[in-house]
Amino acid sequence: MNRYLPGATIGVMGGGQLGRMFCVAARRMGYRVEIFTPEEDTPAGQFADLTRIADYTNEAAVRRFAQDVDVVTFEFENIPAQTIEWCAELRDVRPAGSILHTAQNRLREKDALAAAGIPIAPFRAVRSAHELASAIESIGRPAILKTAAFGYDGKGQQTINSRDDFDEIWSASSADELVLEGVIDFEKEISVIVARGPDGDMATFPVCENLHRSHILDLTVVPARVEPAVELAAAELARTIAEKLDLVGLLAVEMFLKPGGELLVNELAPRPHNSGHWTIEGCATSQYEQHVRAVCGLPLGSTEILRPAAMANLLGDVWLKGTPDWSGLLAVPGVHLHLYGKKEPRPRRKMGHLTALGATAAEAIERVNQARRALHPSTS
Ligand code: ATP
Ligand code: MG
Repeated sequence: MNRYLPGATIGVMGGGQLGRMFCVAARRMGYRVEIFTPEEDTPAGQFADLTRIADYTNEAAVRRFAQDVDVVTFEFENIPAQTIEWCAELRDVRPAGSILHTAQNRLREKDALAAAGIPIAPFRAVRSAHELASAIESIGRPAILKTAAFGYDGKGQQTINSRDDFDEIWSASSADELVLEGVIDFEKEISVIVARGPDGDMATFPVCENLHRSHILDLTVVPARVEPAVELAAAELARTIAEKLDLVGLLAVEMFLKPGGELLVNELAPRPHNSGHWTIEGCATSQYEQHVRAVCGLPLGSTEILRPAAMANLLGDVWLKGTPDWSGLLAVPGVHLHLYGKKEPRPRRKMGHLTALGATAAEAIERVNQARRALHPSTS
């Protein structure tokens, strides 16, 4: 088992905000971080020691990057499998490319989960109008049609209701591989982030309660307002999946909690996750530091919750309503501001987030909402 101690260089594929917060944690611990991304002036690049700008399909550039670092990880899921293979010929890639490959495609992911006996929503693969019709026949309506690859923040998703026309839906879809899922009547959405080291040691973070708006994460609340038995079952599911995948690194497991307590796994993300941002202020070890520890083969940190927390995403829509009043926001007690250094606010684009701590989850939620209202005092 290879171990990478502070002073080593960690290579990160992807230049987004998850990489940015990873850089902060890794560099604070004495690591060098190199980012590989096709884009200039990225959220992660602004905090890295070095950024290599090239396309993921540029073999020479990918190999040079891998050669230059001690261990490779990623913060972005849609990296071509071939790119990871080039890296893996030269360096440890953690989590392994095979896990990324599984998580990149909803069908592969669902097949892997089903094979491992993990409860998931009913689903069917859809590769033609004919398959769509028979999938709807077996799953019933309403159902959700999702692209198998490249979806995030609800992009590439469509709800199918009673009178929709299959041929029309199929011809309007640009993807050639889709998944039809039954709509789950859930009570809550929750997530568990689990870390696993190369020695198989595991640590789960406290269960997060996630509230979505228009299929995008809006608010995460910790501790989740669920029964202790649900917390235990959710953590157990995450650990089982991490073990089955032979994970080294971090894995976020999104789940639906049904009325009555049953859990269904929705999605996997083998990397830090939006629902874990609160750990920076609210937990003994942040998800980013835990990722460093797991990937480098160091002992995993304590996942003890320090204070109840509420995290709200700041989408580009906030800017479109007028210049945000940052001082108003920062005047709210217990509120921490994170901005990702993205130049252009666009609707639904994740520009930053806020984390509020409080004596209780209810107080943390109240504070984060107060801070959001303070951004545009005249309109709220
Ligand atoms: P992200 O990457 O942001 O998690 P995504 O685009 O990969 O999103 P999902 O996580 O599958 O997509 O779906 C986004 C949200 O849409 C879910 O968190 C949930 O609120 C809703 N949703 C998705 N699938 C279902 C389902 N089968 N039943 C009910 N709601 C669903
Ligand atoms: Mg999701």
